[in-house]
Amino acid sequence: MKQVFIKPAEGIYTSPYGMRSGSMHYGVDIANRSSNVPVHASAAGVINKAVGGCSNNGSIGNTCNGGYGNYVIVRHSINGKTYDTLYAHLQSISVSVGQTVNQGDKIGVMGNSGSSTGQHVHFEIYEKARVSQSEAVDPMPYLNGDKPTVSYHTYDGTWATITITQKANVFKNVGYEIIGQLEAGGKYKVYGQREYAADGTLFYNVGSGYVHHAYGTIANHHATVTSTINTYSSPNGAIKRQLAPGTYKVHAAKDGWYNLGAEWVKADQVLVTKN
Ligand SMILES: [Zn+2]
Repeated sequence: MKQVFIKPAEGIYTSPYGMRSGSMHYGVDIANRSSNVPVHASAAGVINKAVGGCSNNGSIGNTCNGGYGNYVIVRHSINGKTYDTLYAHLQSISVSVGQTVNQGDKIGVMGNSGSSTGQHVHFEIYEKARVSQSEAVDPMPYLNGDKPTVSYHTYDGTWATITITQKANVFKNVGYEIIGQLEAGGKYKVYGQREYAADGTLFYNVGSGYVHHAYGTIANHHATVTSTINTYSSPNGAIKRQLAPGTYKVHAAKDGWYNLGAEWVKADQVLVTKN
């Protein structure tokens, strides 16, 4: 199925829609450190606004164009309903008002203009003709596309629990290819973590895919050792050393063994506190 709205630029989601340090963030941020990253129309439409004039060296509190910096609004008519999409902090704009665009057409270049601390595009969706920013809705459900059923395997390779704090996309790979969504309040096993290579943004593996760290809170499991025990290089592997009593962070679990970082211990010799 073709998505009605597509992700407007290649890059990583760095900031979700919702409350952010005490104020409302009315869109999602997509960052990419490459040069001249094109920003695309999320759906076919007509350019409603193309507002430039800001320098590409934004900062927090920069008020150029109300903080949006250089921005474009595209107006869409989808199944008889009007939508607006807004693309902010552009470095440059390559369309003009009244111009018709197809989905995926380049409308500008990602930048760092207005109230911005680094190169990204701030993307907003309105389910009507935009009057004020407070009408913007969370773009993520629209960017989700097809929603296959996400199944969580039961292999206990966990080392932590994540509690989802706001509706989160599940990515097939770090930041790419949305394969499902998790609702706020859900608690999931964490099977590992990976960083997005370009900027080090952390993602957690929840079994079927990856969730951006900002969409949940992590509680690590801990193993308490009450008497000196052996550690092993792998489950059922060679003895590595003796481990003194104490509490250790669990990094993984497998077949009756816990990984404490560089070494493994037998599960029946430790007391694991799960959060
Ligand atoms: Zn933003």
